[in-house]
Amino acid sequence: MGRQGRRHGTVTVVVLLGAPGAGKGTQAPVLAERLGVPILASGDLLRAAVAARTALGTAADRYMSRGQLVPDDTIVDIFLERLGADDAGGGAILDGFPRTLGQAEALDRALAERGGRVDLALYIDLPEDDLVARMASRRICAANGHVYNIASNPPREPGVCDLDGSPLVQREDDREGTVRARMAQQIPPLNEVVDHYRATGVLRTIDGLRSIHEVTAGLLAATNREFGAI
Ligand code: AMP
Repeated sequence: MGRQGRRHGTVTVVVLLGAPGAGKGTQAPVLAERLGVPILASGDLLRAAVAARTALGTAADRYMSRGQLVPDDTIVDIFLERLGADDAGGGAILDGFPRTLGQAEALDRALAERGGRVDLALYIDLPEDDLVARMASRRICAANGHVYNIASNPPREPGVCDLDGSPLVQREDDREGTVRARMAQQIPPLNEVVDHYRATGVLRTIDGLRSIHEVTAGLLAATNREFGAI
C-alpha cells in the first residue's frame, strides 16, 4: 500500500474516464503506482469471465463482441463486489467503470455505505475521429493485455510484447466497424457520467490529444493537486 493509499484511514477512489481508445489502459498503471492502489478494469473482468465461460461471461459476450455496453444489471453487482475485495481496501483506480449514469449512481451508493466517495474523476478527453483512428492501430498482448499502439507507442520488436514476450493481437472489438458502433453507443452515456462528476465537483479534464507523456503528466498533476505531492 502506497503512503497515499489509506489517507485519513479512508479509501482513495479515482475514476478514470474516457471513450474507448482514449488511453485509460495505458495511463492507469502510472496512477495506480502513484497512489499505491490496484487498478480495477471492468473490461478485463468481463474478458476474463468470457474466457472462463462463466454465466457472467456468457451473458456479457454477445454485447461485447458487438461493441455494445453490457446491461447495468450484468456488470454493476459483480464490479462492486470486486471493489469490495481485500486488495482494494485502501481504494482503487477504476478503469472502464462507471460507463453509465446508473453505474455512477450505484457506485456512489456503494461507496457511501462504506463511508467513502469518488475522490477524483480524471477525464481523458479526445475528439471521436481521433479515437477511431487510434483504436484501429491499438494492439494488446495475448498473455496479459499490455497495451500498445503500432503508430504512437510501438513495442521494441514488432508484434511482440516488451513486458512478457507474448504475441500482440487486435481485440475483436477494436476492428473498424465495431469501433464505430462502440463510439455511437458509448459516448452519450459517457457524457452523462462526465456531467455527473462535474456536478459533484470532482472532475478534472485532461486533453487527450497530447502525447502519452504529456497526458501522464497532466493526470499526475491533477492527482497531486488532490492528494498532495509525494
Ligand atoms: P474496455 O476494455 O473497457 O474497452 O471494455 C470492453 C467492453 O466490455 C466494452 O466495449 C463493453 O462491451 C464491456 N464493458 C466494459 N466495462 C463496462 C461497463 N462498465 N459497462 C458496460 N459494459 C462494459
